[in-house]
Amino acid sequence: MTPRADDDRWDIHTGVGYTALVVAAWRALHTAGPDPVAADDWARAFVEAAADPYLSGLLDAAPTADTAVFPTLYGVQTRFFDEFFTAASAAGIAQAVILGAGLDTRCYRLGWPDESVVFEVDQPAVLRFKTAVLAERGARPATRRVPIGADLRGPWAESLLAAGFEPGRPCAWSVEGVLPYLTGADQDALLTALTTLSAAGSRIAIGALGSHFDAEQFAAVTAEHPGLQIFRDVDFSALTHPPEQRADPADWLERHGWALTRVGTTLDLQADHGASPPAVMVAVDRVLRSQYVHATRR
Ligand code: SAM
Repeated sequence: MTPRADDDRWDIHTGVGYTALVVAAWRALHTAGPDPVAADDWARAFVEAAADPYLSGLLDAAPTADTAVFPTLYGVQTRFFDEFFTAASAAGIAQAVILGAGLDTRCYRLGWPDESVVFEVDQPAVLRFKTAVLAERGARPATRRVPIGADLRGPWAESLLAAGFEPGRPCAWSVEGVLPYLTGADQDALLTALTTLSAAGSRIAIGALGSHFDAEQFAAVTAEHPGLQIFRDVDFSALTHPPEQRADPADWLERHGWALTRVGTTLDLQADHGASPPAVMVAVDRVLRSQYVHATRR
């Protein structure tokens, strides 16, 4: 895999963009599985449109206990962020920003208040792919959706303001599955920029199934559970930055004017749904170190 560069670009088939397609495949598998806690009926369309043989094969194969692990973990993550936006809307927050939106279809799936606006920020090619696939399938956003093709390592906040974001109004921010791809400096800059734009009462949800990826430790888990090898030949270590080089997002928020309202792991999220995770999920979480955070701007 091509190493990351400060100015690298990607689409849905390459680099970090491919991770958006991988997690869409997990959402599709979770949706089709027994008792999904979140349903994304558009997720499968992305995998079909991308015609990625590996992920298409995954969707068509009979699931096993091991291949269901990541779809299940991503299912509870999807629900965590779905509930975050639904609660923010119910509390009267009508402005939302989804940073690193990837192939997330919340603008199309969730119920949004009439006057709401949702800004989606990601690489231009990723958002173009999403918009085109959904338009071809006849999907219509349930809110005013504003895609912003921008690099989160650059002046994305200026693009957001230029697109009509109103810093005087509270906002619901989500940072889902994004921070591991940023260096410590880029992560701090991103959190600083969004904090500057956050009126009192704004909310944020941050989370990632893997806040950390250690290829050696993961290989040890997959040696016992070969069905977990669902990353194709993608070297996630080459895409991500270890947490030791980044601030802990919960600590960062607390030190910068946010009141934490929840901090947990995927195991906690599964407990919300009455699930007691099998040993393999506990082992995966020990390696990936999931983290989910809610906070409100003071
Ligand atoms: N949040 C989406 C979800 O959960 O379905 C996508 C998660 S995917 C694992 C990571 C996403 O972050 C990709 O869509 C990728 O393009 C985006 N991303 C990572 N680094 C980025 C950057 N520097 N600028 C813009 N987008 C970025």
